[in-house]
Amino acid sequence: MPEVIDFHIHILQKEQYNPPSLDFVRRLNPETFEERMAIIAHPASLKAHLQKEGVHYGVILAENAPVTTGMVPNEFVAQFCRGEEMLIPFASINPNNEADPAARLVYCVEELGMRGLKLLPPYGLYYPNDVSIYPVYAEAQRLRIPVLIHTGSSTFRGSRMKYGDPLYLDDVAVDFPRLTIVMAHSGRGPFYERAFFLARHHSNIYMEISGLPPQRLLDYFPEFERNADKTIFGSDWPAIPQGIGDNIRDFCALPLKSSTMEKVLYRNAERILFGG
Ligand SMILES: [Zn+2]
Repeated sequence: MPEVIDFHIHILQKEQYNPPSLDFVRRLNPETFEERMAIIAHPASLKAHLQKEGVHYGVILAENAPVTTGMVPNEFVAQFCRGEEMLIPFASINPNNEADPAARLVYCVEELGMRGLKLLPPYGLYYPNDVSIYPVYAEAQRLRIPVLIHTGSSTFRGSRMKYGDPLYLDDVAVDFPRLTIVMAHSGRGPFYERAFFLARHHSNIYMEISGLPPQRLLDYFPEFERNADKTIFGSDWPAIPQGIGDNIRDFCALPLKSSTMEKVLYRNAERILFGG
């Protein structure tokens, strides 16, 4: 089996997640829902599960979207990942419910030890090139942490797709040339072509393929190999119908060069997370 970094894992907890969003996750795979919730309740069980599924490192995402999905607090994610080498915590900042979003990011990185940032513009209801979020990018660039940004569609009630248009990231890439920008879901739905082009065009923009059925990737991106150095594997588990290992297997079954698979499953994420 190849080495794998999963760039997109959620550890939602029932108490702080909105009931309709929790129901959505339940309906994706009703038989395994309780088992999945039990796995993500503790770092030890999540680590054991990731090892079983063939994942070497997992990016664990906070979520700050009270009007749509709910909260997975930064402090919770930081605590969950503390001392766990294979779990890499990403903070989540929402400029619409923080008095000082940039200061909050600095706190998450310098005090809580978080190693990246997740933004959810379609859930937080702001454009990713809005002035309210620009100081956050400036700090992320200074702190040399990557920013993973939701692009494309979402089925969660209350989210708005216009904020998920990757074209707005063109501004961000131009204004923050040393910031690493990763497009979660690669513009899922109406924006695949746009996401693909942006990743080709800007050295600091990457595609991330979580939440997409791997067996359809070459339909969505016929020239997938051309972005071999700019594409990153992620699952979006447990908010997907199948398991992470199933996703890895389906991806490995695509007619791609083995060097492309290695880059997408591991090397590109390794470079972003660990340098080198
Ligand atoms: Zn997700």
